[in-house]
Amino acid sequence: MKAIRVHQFGDPDVLKLEEVPVPSARAGQVLVKVQAVGVNPVETYLRSGINPAIQFPWTPGMDAAGIVEGVGTGVRGWQRGDRIYTSDTVTGSYAEYALCDQTTVHRLPPNLSFQQGAAINIPYATAYRALYHRARALAGEVVLIHGASGGVGVAATQIARAAGLTVIGTGGTDAGRGLIAAQGAHHVVDHRGSGYLEQILQLTDGRGVDILLEMLANVNLGRDLTLLAKYGRVIVIGSRGNVEITPRELMKRDADIRALTLSNASDRELASIHSALGAGLENGTLRPVVGREMRLADVAKAHVAVLEPGAYGKIVLLP
Ligand code: NAP
Repeated sequence: MKAIRVHQFGDPDVLKLEEVPVPSARAGQVLVKVQAVGVNPVETYLRSGINPAIQFPWTPGMDAAGIVEGVGTGVRGWQRGDRIYTSDTVTGSYAEYALCDQTTVHRLPPNLSFQQGAAINIPYATAYRALYHRARALAGEVVLIHGASGGVGVAATQIARAAGLTVIGTGGTDAGRGLIAAQGAHHVVDHRGSGYLEQILQLTDGRGVDILLEMLANVNLGRDLTLLAKYGRVIVIGSRGNVEITPRELMKRDADIRALTLSNASDRELASIHSALGAGLENGTLRPVVGREMRLADVAKAHVAVLEPGAYGKIVLLP
């Protein structure tokens, strides 16, 4: 089979398309014939060397959608031909086949394409965990999704809208803002426009937002604190550097800065997240948006594109 393999940390050109044997499923494992692969920013950080413990050769990727090709002994509930999406893999998802533990394989409802299936796991699980496990969101609250045009932002917009929150989403391009509005945001703001923070305060009649999901904390966290209502919570989802804050902005509001890394979720929490996502995918409130499809062989270009401004839903690779 074809698989992307990395033999050393570095720039996108360390991602090599190679021929490797198809793995076989051992006890408790499911072999998936991959139909589409989700590309996430984290894979670019890992490729660059953020986790020195990675063993080479390494095939990146946790997110994929495909068809069950075979199961190991003791696997219950899955059989050849089932449509699934993955929330982790043993062998990496950037490949024609991926081996998965049976607990990281989830049913892909028939109303969703494989491309949409590849766009579920990291974005939707992160958005759900941010809103419910970290922010403890309640219907009726106001959420600002600071960076709503990308994978996590689109997911958070759909989840929050369906749950009865008032959603304000930000995007940096006309196309991105159009997408955010189409996903159900009540208000859409340009995070590259001058005066957009004042605009957000005006949208809440000066009260501020209850929850703020932050995709680029190193740029925004200091000013985010001034947008919070009393008891407001900022949830740091993404950050690419350091930032200065004024703690008094938190003190004035009894406010919190919280953060998350999806991999800190327990097995029980992950099972709960995927049950909730399964229900939303099935009833149509969650509709993953694929903005760009690329060939697996073009993975290096995908790693450049996923970090560029002008997000529009997800980038997926087709093996
Ligand atoms: P993505 O698809 O590339 O989207 C990035 C988003 O950030 C876009 O909406 C982009 O908007 C927006 N953005 C760019 N500049 C911004 C600014 N100055 N202010 C506010 N927003 C800005 O990435 P993603 O998959 O949604 O992930 C978003 C971030 O969360 C990434 O940093 C990722 O590494 C991180 N993340 C963390 C976890 C975790 O476990 N903590 C899990 C998933 C993702 P425009 O392009 O329209 O400007």
